[in-house]
Amino acid sequence: MMRVPQFRYLAPKSVGEAAKILRGEVPSAQLFAGGTDLIPNMKRGQQVPKTLVGLRGLHALREVHADGGLSLGAGLSLSSVAGEGRIPLAQRALIMAAGKVATPQIRNMGTLGGNLCLDTRCNYYNQNYEWREAIGFCKKAPDGVAIQEVTHGTCWVAPSSPRCWAVNSSDSAPALIALGAEISLVSADGERRIPLAELYHHDGMAFLSKRPDELLTQVHLPAVDASWRSTYWKLRRRGSFDFPVVSVGAAVSLDAGGVVQAARVVIGAVTSAPVVLDASALVGAPLTDEAIAAFADAAVKPARPLDNTDFHLSWRKRVVREYVAGALRELRGDTADQLGLLARSAARILPLAACS
Ligand SMILES: Cc1cc2nc3c(=O)[nH]c(=O)nc-3n(C[C@H](O)[C@H](O)[C@H](O)COP(=O)(O)OP(=O)(O)OC[C@H]3O[C@@H](n4cnc5c(N)ncnc54)[C@H](O)[C@@H]3O)c2cc1C
Ligand code: SF4
Repeated sequence: MMRVPQFRYLAPKSVGEAAKILRGEVPSAQLFAGGTDLIPNMKRGQQVPKTLVGLRGLHALREVHADGGLSLGAGLSLSSVAGEGRIPLAQRALIMAAGKVATPQIRNMGTLGGNLCLDTRCNYYNQNYEWREAIGFCKKAPDGVAIQEVTHGTCWVAPSSPRCWAVNSSDSAPALIALGAEISLVSADGERRIPLAELYHHDGMAFLSKRPDELLTQVHLPAVDASWRSTYWKLRRRGSFDFPVVSVGAAVSLDAGGVVQAARVVIGAVTSAPVVLDASALVGAPLTDEAIAAFADAAVKPARPLDNTDFHLSWRKRVVREYVAGALRELRGDTADQLGLLARSAARILPLAACS
């Protein structure tokens, strides 16, 4: 049986108190939201904080404010995000992504902030201590010490590589980046607001740009008009349960003639950070079959999946092209029947008429 190592639990009553505790306790402390990622990692010896700073008493983190756009507290459960009626249909990519995380039980416990700060994943890392010990560990947590202390070891995915290629497998991150979301980070020094895309580093170990003493408090969705529409597609082995192994968050603004005024397309779960594609080639023209095919072909190169998650590497690469094309075809108004079987398993297609 895998046991949780001993830890001290602190339960601050305000964001300010949490920030102050964190400032005094890092690097041996970690924030504890739903615990659905952190506790399994602690049981496997991948993350071993001596102190957990619980966020469940912070009611401010579960609030939703309409402030031009919409600000969502980082402590909202994924179930509440998926059921949040104030999120406009034009930003339904977030509803789709939150609703596709794991199982209903995990979505009830897991939070939006925890999902955005989720540890990166790898077949050689998400194993118990004995399994990892048998292969001599790797660069990420080689002997069960906290990942921030790690400086040595071999990467079994790319042995000659100086870095770790563990994968960012958050469902909400690519969807929210495609929606142009920003986040608020709070520390004992105060608050700063950054585009969500800037939270991520392309490094399997140092995968977040936020300091360890910063709490993610709010996710800000921009105001959108009726020209916007968005979607989220997710590939996983078991549709009711698994992490993504390829995902696509996409949002476009179309004028009355179907010409693209703005577009954001983000690929998730292929490398250590969400991949933000350069979508400028789509702007100024309609989403024709040719334009979509050319864009989807070009998306394959920056995606670069590695052989450290489920499914064969080259098939996942092919799926990147299919999913980028499928998501854009859905956004131009293709029906579920036109999109075919692939789409039905990747996205819950809603009639786009509902978004305009
Ligand atoms: C069986 C299983 C299946 C899963 N499937 C999926 C899936 O399909 N898709 C997916 O995206 N995830 C999946 N997960 C991972 C996880 O359940 C979710 O990502 C969940 O949203 C994590 O949120 P949490 O509140 O439980 O985070 P926690 O476990 O509490 O924390 C995760 C990390 O985030 C940090 N953190 C938490 N809140 C904050 C904050 N406010 N500010 C700063 N740092 C913070 C913690 O310190 C920790 O490092 C799965 C987990 C399991 C066990
Ligand atoms: S990518 Fe390499 S270093 Fe990173 S977790 Fe996997 S095997 Fe370890």
